[in-house]
Amino acid sequence: MSQAALPAGAAPGHDCPLCPRLVAYRAANRAANPGWHNGPVPSWGPHDAPLLVLGLAPGVRGANRTGRPFTGDYAGRLLYGTLLKFGVARGEFLEDPTDGMELLGCRIANAVRCVPPENLPTPAEIRTCNGFVQAEVAAMPRLRAVLALGVVAHGALLRAKGIPASRYAFAHGAVHTLPDGLWLADSYHVSRYNTSTKRLTAEMFEGVVQALLARLASG
Ligand code: SF4
Repeated sequence: MSQAALPAGAAPGHDCPLCPRLVAYRAANRAANPGWHNGPVPSWGPHDAPLLVLGLAPGVRGANRTGRPFTGDYAGRLLYGTLLKFGVARGEFLEDPTDGMELLGCRIANAVRCVPPENLPTPAEIRTCNGFVQAEVAAMPRLRAVLALGVVAHGALLRAKGIPASRYAFAHGAVHTLPDGLWLADSYHVSRYNTSTKRLTAEMFEGVVQALLARLASG
């Protein structure tokens, strides 16, 4: 079902029932690990930020466990290390939501808020959760750029803006200017797989973030 009509800032409840396969996986994770977050992972960071980082979905032992995006598994190390390096975050990333780290001028969300089995949401799940992406974007009045981590996030942002995916092809390092002026910047996802295969190196990711921040600062 489509969530396109959700009001700005709408977020799913902890027991969001909209994706049956993900609800079943959530129930299994709750039974196996009752101390984990095991629900849709809330977005994080100030709503008045000019930059939104859009990921794919929570990792089962990462954000699904801790309840904070990119926190608790490998993917957060490169992301938060880079945000800290360039002053978009402050504090220390300890892979724990209680580490006291703050985001400055940046908010982080996922295209799909519930953990999918094998880290792979289905097209239907991506569509179903897209209403929340749209609501997220609508609740950021100063938003000027979205950094999409991977092709799914790229497509989710276009869908949320009502733009056909065929109009802007994903390409690592590309920055697309959408019809309303919003910049959509693409990077390969900061996953362990991509970094261990060197598809994405720290230098590559830092280059994308640094260039995007320079663009935001100059424009
Ligand atoms: S992925 Fe999104 S729409 Fe689907 S159950 Fe989770 S919060 Fe709801």
